[in-house]
Amino acid sequence: MLRPLLLLRSLSYPRGRVLMDQEKLLYFKGLLEGMLHDLLVEAGKTATDMRQDSNGDFPDPTDRASLESDRNFLLRIKDRERKLIMKVKEAMDRVDNGTFGICESCGRPISEKRLMARPVTTLCIECKTEGENQERMERQRGTKVRRSFPS
Ligand SMILES: [Zn+2]
Repeated sequence: MLRPLLLLRSLSYPRGRVLMDQEKLLYFKGLLEGMLHDLLVEAGKTATDMRQDSNGDFPDPTDRASLESDRNFLLRIKDRERKLIMKVKEAMDRVDNGTFGICESCGRPISEKRLMARPVTTLCIECKTEGENQERMERQRGTKVRRSFPS
């Protein structure tokens, strides 16, 4: 019931409104560029580590198993990094098109304090909290459904 409401609100979100002055936008753009740089360096390191692992020799099956679970861990990290890299790039696009700092759900400005702590955010704190509550409810419902159909 709450989902369609959220969708309607995001449709009425006023695109193209410039709420921040140029100086602040440049500051956040610099912040995002720094984040992107660090993420790309980290992602490159992870990829290099993975290549080195796969060239290794595995005489002990126990060691090999632990190494493979490590590699799964690296893949998860890499996936998280990739998602964050995309988020940073999207935030940089929003700086360019003038929608940075506007909540994409309610269209109100996101507080500067929140943007400083998390420049990639697309939601104000009120909408973020609402979204988290919904997610938690959906997760709980999902768990109940899975439990009633054991595999
Ligand atoms: Zn909002």
